[in-house]
Amino acid sequence: MSESSIKSARERVQWLLENQCRIPIRSTTPISFYYKTSDNLIEEADHFYKTNQFEQSFILYSRYITLFVEELKQHHPDFLNVSVNDRERVKEIIRTKAFPRAEELKSKLIDKYAQDYGDQQVHSRENFIKPKSPFLLRQKSTNEHGEDKVKISAPGLGHAPTNTHHEQVRANYVQIPAVETMENHLVQTNQESIKPTYDRWQKPITNSLSNGMGSFRRMTVPNDITTKFLQVAQRNTDRSIETCGILAGYRKDNQQYVITHIVVPKQSGGPDSCNTEKEEEMVEYISTHNLITLGWIHTHPTQTAFLSSVDLHTHLPYQMLIEEAIAIVISPKFHETAIFSLTSNTGIPIISTCRKTGFHEHANNPPLYVISSHTTYDIGLQCKIVDLRA
Ligand SMILES: [Zn+2]
Ligand SMILES: [Zn+2]
Repeated sequence: MSESSIKSARERVQWLLENQCRIPIRSTTPISFYYKTSDNLIEEADHFYKTNQFEQSFILYSRYITLFVEELKQHHPDFLNVSVNDRERVKEIIRTKAFPRAEELKSKLIDKYAQDYGDQQVHSRENFIKPKSPFLLRQKSTNEHGEDKVKISAPGLGHAPTNTHHEQVRANYVQIPAVETMENHLVQTNQESIKPTYDRWQKPITNSLSNGMGSFRRMTVPNDITTKFLQVAQRNTDRSIETCGILAGYRKDNQQYVITHIVVPKQSGGPDSCNTEKEEEMVEYISTHNLITLGWIHTHPTQTAFLSSVDLHTHLPYQMLIEEAIAIVISPKFHETAIFSLTSNTGIPIISTCRKTGFHEHANNPPLYVISSHTTYDIGLQCKIVDLRA
């Protein structure tokens, strides 16, 4: 294998670490939320590992490691107050599983990417463009328009470079044995980009799975979710104030998530914003009822249903912790309900490396978010509203 192919492969892995693996931390979210929700990352990483979906698995193990080794440590005020049990449990998972597997997968991916690079050199005289997302390569393989059409920019990173973080963990935890070569190919996707459009009042969405990240579990949404949420939002809506809530539910038979609750936290809102308060009450409710957080819902009292730049940043951590997590936006004025997900190939890397706050512009071509294709409304399911504002 040539030196240039190895170099290119290492750059692709580095791109993943910098663009797909940092879960942004909100200091107002109780740290227990991250400890609890991150269990899902490991379960999903294990699932992808066992099914030989190495790239996805690598991303999720790396998210887990980065979350605890860097992000929470650096950005959450309660990091030092975490219970010894939680701290030791996470340390053990990183030491015995997340880190060794991430290292193993990294080697496999470098072999795979180097092979891709060699193949590409043979089949094309085009220069290899960097930084390169592996997802883009997949799109290219199914897209006749060529790679330039899906090339994305890589915004500067606000954090310190990540190329040392695995090495830090290695130093702190374990030594990794050599690995065999990769035998399995990455999951292919043939889904083309979908422009965000709106779903008029709960028209069922039953599109096929996949959002560029491989297979998604289905997300089942109670059919009465819009009606119920509009009822609790009514007082705010009348005054043109947004209302937000958290979607909670459970994972059913390994194939789907089911939303069963909306937990409405104490909050303060305006015409185009909503800030949660006392999030610990919400986290406590979700935890004591053995629910998991599956996304969020909010109203746009004066506007159509879309995700603003602030909404995109709000949504990112939900989807990085659970790939299937969704953002539901309801516009009572325009009679729209839409369910959105960030695109894995552009939305996640661009938003996770954007350091701007407040309302701001993002490049949006290819789209940063799309109508979620993995959701289904269930008319037999009733949504329970838990209103913590009283
Ligand atoms: Zn919004
Ligand atoms: Zn941004």
